[in-house]
Amino acid sequence: MSNQVMYSLQKAEAAEALQWLEAPIPTIGEDDVLIKVRRTGICGTDIHIWDWDAWAQSIVPVPIITGHEFSGEVVEVGKNVSTLKVGQRVSGEGHLIQHSSRQARSGRFHLDPGTRGLGVETDGAFAQYVQLPAFNVIELPDSISDDLGAILDPLGNAVHTALAFDILGEDVLITGAGPIGIMAAAVCRFAGARNVVLTDINDARLTLARSVVADVHTVNVSTRNLEAEMQALGIKQGFDIGLEMSGSGAALSQMIEALDVGGRLALLGIPSTSADLDLSRVVLKSITLKGIYGREMFETWYKMLAMLDAGLNIEPIITHLFPARDFEGAFAAMKSGQTGKVVLDWTEV
Ligand code: NAD
Ligand code: ZN
Repeated sequence: MSNQVMYSLQKAEAAEALQWLEAPIPTIGEDDVLIKVRRTGICGTDIHIWDWDAWAQSIVPVPIITGHEFSGEVVEVGKNVSTLKVGQRVSGEGHLIQHSSRQARSGRFHLDPGTRGLGVETDGAFAQYVQLPAFNVIELPDSISDDLGAILDPLGNAVHTALAFDILGEDVLITGAGPIGIMAAAVCRFAGARNVVLTDINDARLTLARSVVADVHTVNVSTRNLEAEMQALGIKQGFDIGLEMSGSGAALSQMIEALDVGGRLALLGIPSTSADLDLSRVVLKSITLKGIYGREMFETWYKMLAMLDAGLNIEPIITHLFPARDFEGAFAAMKSGQTGKVVLDWTEV
């Protein structure tokens, strides 16, 4: 395949927007597979690269093919790959790890300090073909559609965060009803939380949350008092578990106040500046904080696929499907703040 070209979405130069450009089809190594991409999800990370903000400038090399959320079909396997076959439908873990660190050698692959991001630090999945180490490939059962297969990466963020602490029978507060917060609410309900309260400052997101997740309690904290909702639900002392999924300092402060003494808080949201956190409240309330990055490799993937198999329905979080060539429309939709997950179709380019 190496002499052929494909279409791709590239950040070709720092000064230019993402462009629809031809690129060589990747040449795979002995331990890799080549995947023909069917669908890709647009992630907040892709928006940072689109906007070329300070974070993107500091980490993303150009030129680069962006994108890391995908589903597709294996079309070529490297010489050493015996576990995957041409024709299999797959998704994949976009955190590319080294195998020499203490963490990786201990089987905690997701904590490897040498992790590199597909489509962030190396060429990614916004293309007709993407290469991936076979180690990172996830086979898709027939029951998972190509669309759903393309958003397993952010669903994995939601699952990893939601399962960071034992939520069975607990009252859970989730701040931030972006696609990941909404999916986390669905996972918490599915995994047996008692009350799941989801906050945002954007009504469109909260309306979407109620249509995706049965029995979620939503609060627009810019117009309504969180304490009133807690009272209405009979949550007297505070929430047992918190999932911070907004990256907002205001949400984090509200979260710390709303947690019970001895509460546990998993942090996924990435603040764009150093957050103003009253640490004395964390100490005096004996709150446990846990940072969450990516997905556990590969425990999160097993749990996620098992929950989907057992009836977790997450597909309605996909609100928009665009042909890949209409990436400008897709990014504009995503940036409007009115959507759930926005997916690109690469099969007709
Ligand atoms: P998103 O930006 O779509 O959603 C964030 C939501 O938070 C928005 O709906 C916004 O209105 C809401 N919000 C803003 N201020 C708020 C406040 N004061 N209270 C409550 N809600 C408020 O993001 P997403 O794609 O759903 O991702 C969620 C977060 O997780 C982002 O910060 C993202 O950068 C981060 N993230 C982290 C990882 C990781 O590995 N740690 C991976 C993916 C995404
Ligand atoms: Zn992502």
